[in-house]
Amino acid sequence: MAKYTIKVDNEKCIGCGACASECPDNWELKETGEGYKGKPNVAVLDNEEDYEKNKAAEAICPVGAITITKSK
Ligand code: SF4
Repeated sequence: MAKYTIKVDNEKCIGCGACASECPDNWELKETGEGYKGKPNVAVLDNEEDYEKNKAAEAICPVGAITITKSK
């Protein structure tokens, strides 16, 4: 089973909450000291169902702050 790793670019994130709306299972807005930022609760995904849900969060992010890549 492939694994996928989620990364968020805090510099790009504008704290809009779209990721949390699209994939509430794994995303929420958290106060970081530099305002609210989208954060995944789990950063490594190990099944296709979770991957698809999180991929939707990646796709909806208006500033391209989320990247999900296949882990080796
Ligand atoms: S959708 Fe993108 S910009 Fe909006 S809170 Fe999530 S990571 Fe940040």
